[in-house]
Amino acid sequence: MIRLLWTVLVALSSLSAVELPQPVAIDPGGPGKAPSDAIVLFDGNNLDAWQHENGSAANWKVADGAMTVAAVSGDIYTRQRFGDVQLHVEWRTPAVVEGHGQERGNSGVYLQSRYEVQVLDSYDNVTYSNGQAAAVYKQYIPLVNASRGPGEWQCYDIVFRAPRFGADGSLESPAVMTVFHNGVLVQDHVELRGATTNVGEPVYQAHGPLPLMLQDHHNPLSYRNIWLRELSAGR
Ligand code: MG
Repeated sequence: MIRLLWTVLVALSSLSAVELPQPVAIDPGGPGKAPSDAIVLFDGNNLDAWQHENGSAANWKVADGAMTVAAVSGDIYTRQRFGDVQLHVEWRTPAVVEGHGQERGNSGVYLQSRYEVQVLDSYDNVTYSNGQAAAVYKQYIPLVNASRGPGEWQCYDIVFRAPRFGADGSLESPAVMTVFHNGVLVQDHVELRGATTNVGEPVYQAHGPLPLMLQDHHNPLSYRNIWLRELSAGR
């Protein structure tokens, strides 16, 4: 009897295993290599995926597998627009320390060109806490300061959910971010109050998919190994 029951249970469990949908198998990649289902935005070779705001070719300097802000050449934007994404980006502040506070190794990773995760040399460099590295700029202080030193490669892994807007432009759900800095959780599903801004209150303006943007803050920041995975098509 027990054996019969066992046989029936095993049969039922294997049946449900067959009926449940299977996740798509991918190659997860590894250090320096994107997952097989990612969109590679920079693999060290060229800036083909990027442009300036006016549509001209991005002219940051590409060398040694990295791209570096060419002073006062302007922010760069992906040619492609995105909604919800998982983003991986590696960055390095200058090894030679110049300036302090916000003037030391400043750049920024802007999801949808509007929502900034601050990039800054925050190693032994105090500034306002919601403006340091891994802050959602002027909205959320990182849970810890996981910064590596000047000249060392660091990384962000970001899960970004785009805001949703109604047909009349009203906000239906805010942008949400989870951020890991060098593998450490620093932003835990935080809800943004609007576009990040240096001055004044953040506000939302309705929009659809928009480019990812990297900021030229006049410091020679370097980036490498940038990829993202779209989490929902078209948003
Ligand atoms: Mg910045």
